[in-house]
Amino acid sequence: MTALTTPNGCRWCGIEQRGHFQQWKPPAGWHTWEQPTQDQIKARMLARRAARNT
Ligand SMILES: [Zn+2]
Repeated sequence: MTALTTPNGCRWCGIEQRGHFQQWKPPAGWHTWEQPTQDQIKARMLARRAARNT
């Protein structure tokens, strides 16, 4: 079981902006923190809410 991603985590790997630095994750490869899309933020918030309710 993986920890739920913070809504504002990196769009590629889900790590928070502070503490991200450079990460390697397909398909982006080496990357720095990047703003998630509105859809990603929404999906992550819904997932968190669903996890809290179960
Ligand atoms: Zn990342």
